[in-house]
Amino acid sequence: MKFFKRLLSGAGGESDPGDDPNLFWYYVRCGRCGETVAVMARRGYDLVEEYEESGGTDAPSGYSLYKDVMGRSDTCFQQMRIEIRFNTSYEEQSRHIEGGRFITEEEFRASANEADQDEPK
Ligand SMILES: [Zn+2]
Repeated sequence: MKFFKRLLSGAGGESDPGDDPNLFWYYVRCGRCGETVAVMARRGYDLVEEYEESGGTDAPSGYSLYKDVMGRSDTCFQQMRIEIRFNTSYEEQSRHIEGGRFITEEEFRASANEADQDEPK
């Protein structure tokens, strides 16, 4: 939950110069082979507007991100699907994943370092 809070509070932050506010990053681990995958989503491109059925207004009630994720493994073809919901300020409200689980950026970087040895350059 610590990471989740940091994500929320850092959504509009400008502390990191390489941090594009229009990009959202998610890190997932395959539920089958354990491969870790970084998933990038672009605001305005990957996010879809959500409308209240009974809202009666033209303004969206929030945004959702749906993304199918596949690892690069040659032997595992597990497909993961993530679903993230945002409010109209692009603050994350909830997240859901099928076929794997969310991990923190720290976990992802740690696993990426391990995997570096096998990766062809
Ligand atoms: Zn896999």
